[in-house]
Amino acid sequence: MRAWALVYNKSMKENSVVKIVNKDGYSYLEFKKLTELGVKNCFTLKPLNFSFKHQSEVDNRNNFKIICKLMDIDYDKLCRPEQKHTNEVRTVKDKYGVNISEFSFTDGLITNQEGVPIATTAADCTPIIIYDSQNKVIANVHSGWKGTLNNIVINATNKMIEEFKCQKENLLYFFGPCICKDCFEVETDVYELFYNKYKHLDNINDIIRKKNDKYLIDTTLLNETLLINMGIKKANIYKADICTYENDNYLHSYRKRTSDSFGLGVAIVCL
Ligand SMILES: [Zn+2]
Repeated sequence: MRAWALVYNKSMKENSVVKIVNKDGYSYLEFKKLTELGVKNCFTLKPLNFSFKHQSEVDNRNNFKIICKLMDIDYDKLCRPEQKHTNEVRTVKDKYGVNISEFSFTDGLITNQEGVPIATTAADCTPIIIYDSQNKVIANVHSGWKGTLNNIVINATNKMIEEFKCQKENLLYFFGPCICKDCFEVETDVYELFYNKYKHLDNINDIIRKKNDKYLIDTTLLNETLLINMGIKKANIYKADICTYENDNYLHSYRKRTSDSFGLGVAIVCL
């Protein structure tokens, strides 16, 4: 058992939505509801790092193998999209792997295949898992500010409805750790993109707040509002409510990165 696993026990706060799993010297977060429903899931904590750019390919692959072993899932079938801050969502068919060409320029994956884990990485962006417990379909979406601006969670939802005949009332949403509404500060250019697109929303003044000469954007509330407006039940949206920026001792935060250190956490879900 490594010493830092004990530190997590003392410092990282669980809540009604997520719990901390400590296993073989590592710790990760799990959505209680998904686990109750028999769906394997995780959001990793430091020191596990899934960045392709800031560590060797071997270290990266080994970290994926470690988390797969902890979750008792098959590394060889693990699928991860390339992630380019797009709003593209694809369905996993018969090709598996991390960063394979089938998933280039993609930020979300869907599958109904048992034993096929789907993963997205994030550091401040919101990982969103969607689960249809009736039709047994899962999605995993990387919703950074650009993905949120361009409705990737809505695209994933519509694809689940079209391709897998999912019913809106059966869809459960799980928002992973991300930068919170008080920490996600933007300049006028990003503010204008959000304001111009979403000024019609009733709660736009809650989603975007002015702070001195900058703006704060609540991407969680925006994603939630978009889902509720398309008919998703508010009670079916579970939020980890843990800020990556404020908890950078445990979680990778892009905005807290230093010049020589940048990491990514991974969200994985598997039927
Ligand atoms: Zn925060």
